[in-house]
Amino acid sequence: AHPVRLEARLHAYGDGRRLLLSRDVTQLEQAEAMRRDFVANVSHEIRTPLTVLIGFIETLQNLPLAPPERARYLQLMARQGERMQRLVEDLLTLSRLEGSPPPGLEHWLDVDELLRQCHAETQALSAALAPDGPAHEIVFPPAQQLHAAGWLAGSASELHSLLGNLLGNAVRYTPPGGRIELRWQPLAGGGVHLAVHDSGPGIAPEHLPRLTERFYRVDRGRAAGTGGTGLGLAIVKHVAQRHGAQLRIDSAPGEGATFSVEFPPARVRPAPARAPAAES
Ligand code: ADP
Repeated sequence: AHPVRLEARLHAYGDGRRLLLSRDVTQLEQAEAMRRDFVANVSHEIRTPLTVLIGFIETLQNLPLAPPERARYLQLMARQGERMQRLVEDLLTLSRLEGSPPPGLEHWLDVDELLRQCHAETQALSAALAPDGPAHEIVFPPAQQLHAAGWLAGSASELHSLLGNLLGNAVRYTPPGGRIELRWQPLAGGGVHLAVHDSGPGIAPEHLPRLTERFYRVDRGRAAGTGGTGLGLAIVKHVAQRHGAQLRIDSAPGEGATFSVEFPPARVRPAPARAPAAES
């Protein structure tokens, strides 16, 4: 149990009466501590690539390097710059998610199109991460199943970042040759079940409750090399909540991981009948 913190003030009146005012500041103090932690984390995450970047610049300034070596240094510098760029983009995404009302029911998305884009991006990421190794086996539901699940009310850009983060993690944490599957199934009550499953190393139970905390990583050392910002699952959790859903994580060491979300019936409606020409 957390201790409760009370702030008390005593007013004294001229006639000798006293008034004691107290309020519970537990939550205020917790929020303030979280804000301080967040700023410290962001500063650390920016300082690390910046230190590396400045080190490389100094090396280039001070050492007469041969062109191939120079090129290698510049490539490493670009990677640090990209890392900072991803961090800033994810921070902006989080702040937009926190500062705007959730998407209403006026935008109905054709999920087929969104998933096709995500499929192509996942394949491209898999190929980029292991250009020489075996590709991941990436399985997406067939178009008719998506059609059966219906259209979804929500924000295309937010759902793109939810799917992109889950699929990106699946590719980055699953060794080449592993299997990644996206499921998108209608639920009996009218909602939709979305899951991203991978055959990667899985996650030990003690980490599961903390995975969606900003900058929480199971393995700090290894995560630094994966190109992640540590904000991905925090973004996923926010987007899910804004669409009336909760993120659920099922995993065990050696058994892969499944990240799933159930969209409520209110956000799902039957897809319009497709024109015969669009059938494949
Ligand atoms: P990161 O940018 O570090 O990937 P995330 O918020 O996306 O940050 O994920 C938090 C942590 O959860 C990761 O550092 C990793 O330890 C763990 N994780 C996320 N997805 C997976 C997965 N598919 N398999 C195993 N571990 C995962």
